[in-house]
Amino acid sequence: MLMKAMQTKAESSSGQAQLKRGNRMALIRQVRVLPGQSRVDLANTLGLTKSTVSALVRELIDEGWLLEREVVVTGDIGRRPTPLFIDPTRLLLLGAQVGIGHLRVVLTSLTGEVLSARSVGYDTGLDAEACILTLTRTLLAVAARCGKTQRIIGIGLGLPGGVDQAHDQLVFAPHLHWHEVPFGALLRAALQGTPLSGAPVFMQNDADVAALGESEFNPSPAADPLLLVLVGEGVGAGLVVGGRLLTGTRGFAGEVGHMVLQIDGPRCSCGRRGCAEALIGGRALLQQDGDAPTPQALAQAGHFLGVLLQNLAVAYDPACIVLGGSAMVLGDALLAPVRATLRQYAQAAGLPEPALRVARFGADAIAVGAAALAGYRLTQPTLL
Ligand SMILES: [Zn+2]
Repeated sequence: MLMKAMQTKAESSSGQAQLKRGNRMALIRQVRVLPGQSRVDLANTLGLTKSTVSALVRELIDEGWLLEREVVVTGDIGRRPTPLFIDPTRLLLLGAQVGIGHLRVVLTSLTGEVLSARSVGYDTGLDAEACILTLTRTLLAVAARCGKTQRIIGIGLGLPGGVDQAHDQLVFAPHLHWHEVPFGALLRAALQGTPLSGAPVFMQNDADVAALGESEFNPSPAADPLLLVLVGEGVGAGLVVGGRLLTGTRGFAGEVGHMVLQIDGPRCSCGRRGCAEALIGGRALLQQDGDAPTPQALAQAGHFLGVLLQNLAVAYDPACIVLGGSAMVLGDALLAPVRATLRQYAQAAGLPEPALRVARFGADAIAVGAAALAGYRLTQPTLL
């Protein structure tokens, strides 16, 4: 009986802790989505009492999550409620892009400002452990730029392959030939005994984190569903629906580079023929024997990218399609045929063209997106 009572008490206390965490995180996410809300606004929106909101907001301000800005009092309307914002100065995030032979690490605020960044190369002929050692050194070098009053609360990784989030594993990185790498555990082990020891590490596919970067670090409510397509060495997509990332059963959702666009087309790295990646990705676009791609090659790749986006728009009806990845350096030479293809399909069906834009963070889309992943996961009602 006593045991049962103790269990019930422990369960109730853990339930309360979970409820409190849920409320704290709901407050943070609500202020992120709509900056400038007052305590009263938040209480009304979230269905909490004003005293609960006031107590939680005080804690969140003390801890560095939120800040309040005094409003100018004018005329006879009295003191207006104090607006609350995400504090961009005290709690910081580290994001890392693990590319093919290169790493990019950024230090960002909770609102996505890049405060420091560093890029390094690594030898793709070596195994994942060698890459993780280089990554560890780079993370520590960037983290050293953190000020005395600042604290890094999480590390996010954008990896070039399928990620099984539940098992903390990089399942397969096709361009690196890495299989079933416990990337997160290896990085945590490498960080033991360093200033980043114990920092939570989160990882996800590179296109997925880039999509999160666009939705999380958006100064205004982001388009939703938001579809981001990365075009670089490979081609991949990330989809945010209802504020959540769609990852699929095994973390392979969005592997759109292997959608077949041309029956019996050129051979793809996956062994099939006519995949989007073989028609649009690095080998088709960026490495024409070391030369710049010809105008014809760009026009053709842009056309096929337009076909791919048309198929994805039909499948998901996104509010916005965002294009990112290293191929964006090609600018209008690639984007003009993309837009022309989308326009042709739209006109033929008498429908509006899908909204299309280039990723906000340009070349940093994956690294900043990885930092967004850390912020996103840390602010979920239950720590995923
Ligand atoms: Zn393929």
